[in-house]
Amino acid sequence: MVSFKELGLVNTREMFAKAIKGGYAIPAFNFNNMEQLQAIIKAAAETKSPVILQVSKGARNYANQTLLRYMAQGAVEYAKELGWEHPQICLHLDHGDSFELCKSCVDFGFSSVMIDASSLPYEENIALTKKVVEYAHQYDVTVEAELGVLAGVEDEVSSAVSHYTKPEEVVDFATRTGCDSLAISIGTSHGAYKFTPEQCTRDPKTGRLVPPPLAFDVLDAIMEQLPGFPIVLHGSSSVPQEYVDMINKYGGKLPDAVGIPEEQLRKAAASAVCKINIDSDSRLAFTAAVRKVFAEKPGEFDPRKYCGPARDLMEELYKHKIINVLGSNGKAE
Ligand SMILES: [Zn+2]
Repeated sequence: MVSFKELGLVNTREMFAKAIKGGYAIPAFNFNNMEQLQAIIKAAAETKSPVILQVSKGARNYANQTLLRYMAQGAVEYAKELGWEHPQICLHLDHGDSFELCKSCVDFGFSSVMIDASSLPYEENIALTKKVVEYAHQYDVTVEAELGVLAGVEDEVSSAVSHYTKPEEVVDFATRTGCDSLAISIGTSHGAYKFTPEQCTRDPKTGRLVPPPLAFDVLDAIMEQLPGFPIVLHGSSSVPQEYVDMINKYGGKLPDAVGIPEEQLRKAAASAVCKINIDSDSRLAFTAAVRKVFAEKPGEFDPRKYCGPARDLMEELYKHKIINVLGSNGKAE
């Protein structure tokens, strides 16, 4: 048993309370490798933004859970080395799908876990979430739960259709489970293809797809039911066209990829939404940078020469999100 406190990590309790009061949101960035982690920490340290490092089940399988834990521990030290005196870094399990997985993360030094039982019937979702909360809270680990179903594909999580969260269920759910935050479904979705062209309209000038707006009426109704309760948005990448264009220009094939417009996320961040998950955007930045190097310098075979530019582009992306979308810069001096 390792406590996250020994590792210099923090849970989400104080982070979220401050974010709701301050009208901003905490970035939750997924990581699977060293370059991604370096970019996240550099961006957070430079902007003095609290940050949530997310590890999915897929990331645990890809990178090894032991290595990931030590990487997160190393990230705290790295942040201090970069001049961030009191780093506020949370290590979070993204989409935990069983009590055993959540328990293993709690025992292993995570400071926060998500139990995603949203695909189960309502009462089963409550029962499983409650079980995870009861275990995690013994160690001061915070728990995110989910109500409603997001469309799209993210690692092992996938669903063809979304079902908005029902505002009339949230009080009962939060009270009976004791969860610390709630992921809701209001039209965001996982992956780089959040909407089909049929769901979108086309900008007549650019020919780009314009996605349908998020269901802010559902968000408002949820906030009315649960005033001041931390709300989480998954699947909130914006799929920046500059990266999609770069990928397509240098031999990739991502036609009609579309995400959530940043102005909608800014609006959400100003509300009780205090954690916004961004994964696909950094995958796109990484891929765009690597493709560019490969296209321009076909003789390059030193991974540092293409992973380095990828890291730089991701860092730029993370800083942009922190400063221009979430507003969390300067909130963790
Ligand atoms: Zn998610």
